[in-house]
Amino acid sequence: PAGGGGNGTLPRYVRVNTIKTRFDDAVDYFKRQGFVYQGRASPEMKGVASLSGKTFLLDPHLPGVLIFPPGTDLHEDQLYKAGHVILQDKASCLPAFLLNPTPGSHVLDACAAPGNKTSHLAAIMGNKGRIFAFDLDAKRLATMSTMLARAGVTCHNLAHQDFLATDPGDPKYSHVEYILLDPSCSGSGIVGRLPYEEEERMDAQRLQALAGFQRRMLGHALKFPALRRLVYSTCSLHQEENEEVVRDVLEQHGRDFRLVEALPSWTPRGLGVFAEAKCCLRASPKETLTNGFFVAVMERRQAETEDQS
Ligand code: SAM
Repeated sequence: PAGGGGNGTLPRYVRVNTIKTRFDDAVDYFKRQGFVYQGRASPEMKGVASLSGKTFLLDPHLPGVLIFPPGTDLHEDQLYKAGHVILQDKASCLPAFLLNPTPGSHVLDACAAPGNKTSHLAAIMGNKGRIFAFDLDAKRLATMSTMLARAGVTCHNLAHQDFLATDPGDPKYSHVEYILLDPSCSGSGIVGRLPYEEEERMDAQRLQALAGFQRRMLGHALKFPALRRLVYSTCSLHQEENEEVVRDVLEQHGRDFRLVEALPSWTPRGLGVFAEAKCCLRASPKETLTNGFFVAVMERRQAETEDQS
């Protein structure tokens, strides 16, 4: 999973779970454990790559995300076991942060397990509203259920279901204004996940199959009638699964939806395979000290005024 940092080369990112604790209380806890708090890192993340010893920083881009030195193992930590903090790579915190659903809203998480982004969405919503969370994989859903319980999430509806088989016209979903779409991908951005030989086998045919699936998922998501904002994300570095998927789907749905600029202050942008691709953002171990990642944010176009006068 995109936990980040487990390989010992990336910083260990820790998201404070505001459903269970307050940010200041988590910082105080780590200080009591002997960690020295060095405040907010610079936007350029200067010094973060060389962070070492018992120190930690506040992430400059994502609220409530702390940065510990690479290799810091918090899996046995009480705060983690109690669900007060989530061990989640910084890049994988971007999608929920950018979707930013309002408390009380209805949200659909199309590919949800094992659920780190679902619990992040719930925290942003103050655990108020509803998250319809789907996944095809029963084992991953079981893990997700445990994980959400530990995180204190109560606003979710888990379903063992193919997102492509959901009916966007079902009245159940008539208030869904936000969709997070984080579909299966090649995983080529995850540091240390694929052995080199497997990376080599990522042939054009396999990528095309994944991209076809991703286009179908994105096209389906854009059919939900009340949808206002959608975030599409992958942990892939391949433009076939990223910019090209977004480009192709917007060619069909561009009259209703447009890309919006995701986190303008973030430097690595979408590859220039079409004019608006710069609205998307990318992440990589080298440039952002995270796993490789891609995020696109789409919004429904405002209805044109029909006033002819
Ligand atoms: N969003 C998750 C998180 O942050 O923990 C990670 C999701 S993972 C990248 C992709 C997930 O999509 C897998 O768990 C897979 O089982 C699920 N999946 C694949 N095809 C699906 C489909 N047609 N409908 C629903 N889920 C699907």
